[in-house]
Amino acid sequence: MDKIKNNLITEKEQLLTEIKKIAIFVNGDFEAKETNSNTDEVLDNADQGAEQANLINNRAILVELETRLNNIDDALTRVESGVYGECTKCGEDISEKRLLANQAAALCMKCSGIDLD
Ligand SMILES: [Zn+2]
Repeated sequence: MDKIKNNLITEKEQLLTEIKKIAIFVNGDFEAKETNSNTDEVLDNADQGAEQANLINNRAILVELETRLNNIDDALTRVESGVYGECTKCGEDISEKRLLANQAAALCMKCSGIDLD
């Protein structure tokens, strides 16, 4: 179980590193920032468009990363309470295959509506 916990913590750190590349921490929350390098230069309209697109793109990435981060935190909580690997909906064991693909999985295949085989 310690190994799983370590894996989750490692993934959490990686996510935070990714988040910090595209966001700043403001008022207790992450906010997406522009990641184009030439922000000090005078921009023509095309560049401004690109900056805008960059920011919108980073916001979308941030939402995904934060969702993933929340899932990891939830999984860590389940490790602490000894229920990691059990489906939070039906209580069945989540298959090893699924946990390998997504170690933060909270639902079994059936409950998550995934029908792989
Ligand atoms: Zn289930």
